[in-house]
Amino acid sequence: MNSNDDRLSRRILLRTAVAVTAAGTAGLVPASASASTPPWDALRKQLRGNLLLPGDGEYSSAKQLFDPQFDGDSPAAIVEAAGEPDVLAAAAFARDNRIPLAARAGGHSYVGASATSGALVVDVRGLSDITPDGDQVTVGAGVTARALLARLDATGRSLPLGTCPTVGVAGLTLGGGIGVDSRRYGLTCDQLVSARVVMPGGGSAQTSSTQLPGLFWALRGGGGSAGIVTSLTYRTCPAQSRDIVHVTFPPEAATQVLTGWARWLSAADRSIWSNLTISSAAGQLGCEALIVTPAGQGSTATAGLTATAGTPASGTDSRTLDHMAATDQLGGGSTTPRSTKVAGSDVVAQITPAIAATIVGVITARSRVGATGYVLIDPLDGAVRDTAPDASAFPWRTHTATLQWIVDDPGDPADAQRWIADAHRTLGPASAGAYANYVELGQDPSRYYAGNLNRLRSVRTTTDPNGLLHTGIAW
Ligand SMILES: Cc1cc2nc3c(=O)[nH]c(=O)nc-3n(C[C@H](O)[C@H](O)[C@H](O)COP(=O)(O)OP(=O)(O)OC[C@H]3O[C@@H](n4cnc5c(N)ncnc54)[C@H](O)[C@@H]3O)c2cc1C
Repeated sequence: MNSNDDRLSRRILLRTAVAVTAAGTAGLVPASASASTPPWDALRKQLRGNLLLPGDGEYSSAKQLFDPQFDGDSPAAIVEAAGEPDVLAAAAFARDNRIPLAARAGGHSYVGASATSGALVVDVRGLSDITPDGDQVTVGAGVTARALLARLDATGRSLPLGTCPTVGVAGLTLGGGIGVDSRRYGLTCDQLVSARVVMPGGGSAQTSSTQLPGLFWALRGGGGSAGIVTSLTYRTCPAQSRDIVHVTFPPEAATQVLTGWARWLSAADRSIWSNLTISSAAGQLGCEALIVTPAGQGSTATAGLTATAGTPASGTDSRTLDHMAATDQLGGGSTTPRSTKVAGSDVVAQITPAIAATIVGVITARSRVGATGYVLIDPLDGAVRDTAPDASAFPWRTHTATLQWIVDDPGDPADAQRWIADAHRTLGPASAGAYANYVELGQDPSRYYAGNLNRLRSVRTTTDPNGLLHTGIAW
């Protein structure tokens, strides 16, 4: 940390010491488990937005996340923030009453972290302003991906985001942000110019590469562990028409295709993006590549992939679409209905024939027992590598791909979790870790942050010395 960070650290520690002394020194417990009821009315009086408690009419719908499997969770209360002062008031209240905090934006946490039982949820969805300014855009932390892309499209600009239209831009950015523009421009967090953050330890700050750079470092991939973000400013890129090609391969060639895909992509122009899905659907194996290129380049790219893979496609579907039509095509529409996904991830440094065979073997084993599940293999090369592994909290800058193991709408979520745990074990040392935005319960934080963990812990100790902020990762 630089001297600015040190000054911030001292200020926060001083304030927090007072708050903790006033509240006592016992460990933090969820409000629902504490003996006395927190003085919620005192908090309500400070807010411009709503405070919802269990029993309030809108509480049940307000705590709903994307995934219905978390509908049974019961946060202590929800603050629907109407501005940064509400976030500051909520953070101070949590600190004084020793209540865990959970930030909630788009609500797509894979572990339901943004509606944690017993926590005071700070819902930033009301902070939804989008302000384009030349080649930058400033957004409130409650903005979702498609809403932002549609607004930028009107100005001829875009932003590298993920594909799901309803994912929160804040949550996506804080964990990294992988999408079809990653090879060309880098992760979503690589486009971040500055952000405003409320710190659970006290106060708020504007951060950038020159203002509190240690905190800014943590926001880029640290997964929301350093504070509650209220606004974010990004560098934008030109909106472009795209070719979107789905290439189906014979499933028995999946290992060869995966090996060839990795080789082909490593030498491909950065404007070409592709991922690979190897799936088991009720016992049927599948292998499909998605290729996204600037308009007019899809067929050349497809020929490059099939030639390097040494396997002819068994089917190809190609379309040329303008920027927003492509956005909706990739996102499966302009919105995504709520659904349950059990998911987990690995990160691989390389995809050798042996590693490809192991990955395909995990899916083949799943298909042999007639079960459903797939692995989505997203590249981490191109512009993702322009940032050094220790230059932001996102550590996977010299790696080849993320593997996301997914079971959609599982009949038996525990079985899906066991399968994913088996996948991690089977991959063994070939896995370097996991992607923070695909968080799983019970994982060691070093899996997500590797060599950046200690620095991230030290930022977190400064901004959230009582460890109030809950992100789904066990710090
Ligand atoms: C259907 C689906 C598709 C996805 N597609 C992609 C994809 O293409 N690419 C990709 O990279 N990821 C993808 N993800 C993962 C997604 O990026 C993460 O789940 C992300 O954390 C979601 O952010 P959110 O704001 O929607 O969720 P929330 O549940 O609101 O937040 C998730 C976490 O982000 C943090 N957070 C959110 N808002 C704030 C804030 N204002 N201040 C501080 N911390 C905050 C908190 O730690 C919170 O627990 C997808 C997830 C799903 C469910």
